[in-house]
Amino acid sequence: MSLDKSEAFTAQTEALRLGDRKERGLWRRFRFFLQDHPRPLEWAWKLAQMVLRRMGRPFEWLGVKRASRWVKPLEEIVKRPIFDCQMCGQCILHSTGMTCPMTCPKKLRNGPCGGVRMDGSCEVTPEAACIWVKAVERSRHTSYHLDIGKLNPPVDWQLHETASWVTFAVGRDEVTTGSGRGPHHAAEVISK
Ligand code: SF4
Repeated sequence: MSLDKSEAFTAQTEALRLGDRKERGLWRRFRFFLQDHPRPLEWAWKLAQMVLRRMGRPFEWLGVKRASRWVKPLEEIVKRPIFDCQMCGQCILHSTGMTCPMTCPKKLRNGPCGGVRMDGSCEVTPEAACIWVKAVERSRHTSYHLDIGKLNPPVDWQLHETASWVTFAVGRDEVTTGSGRGPHHAAEVISK
């Protein structure tokens, strides 16, 4: 790792720690309570799915980028305070026990790294629990618990800051490079 990358990594880690400290208090306790009891969040997602499936055509007509400009602020207002959503544009929250995988300092989307400690804490921020340990525990309380083992495609950073509600609605959130079906690259998805 070059010095620049190492410095950037340290800065990002420090920012995560700072964010963690800033959030201490009532809201932080409330949101962890919500996530630890994810059933109501799951019901909300099921309701949202029903609405979003009906929005596929209008979003297709508008184009992902343009639709996202309208939808993203709303999605951020809802998801940032509860899930610390990083707007990756490819939401897999329901399959990870309503725990955002992008809050992992290493942004891992297919389970924990080899650095998770014996007590279940994070290698990078030892004072915090590994988000994948939380995800596995929380997913047991949802009807999507089998999806925790689903192999997720690597996050495509070209979808970063795109509304995942839009990419879900148009069926383009699962970009599986190398697959014989569907789009192979996010550029195909957001080029409109
Ligand atoms: S859209 Fe991405 S960053 Fe936001 S909650 Fe879902 S998985 Fe996390």
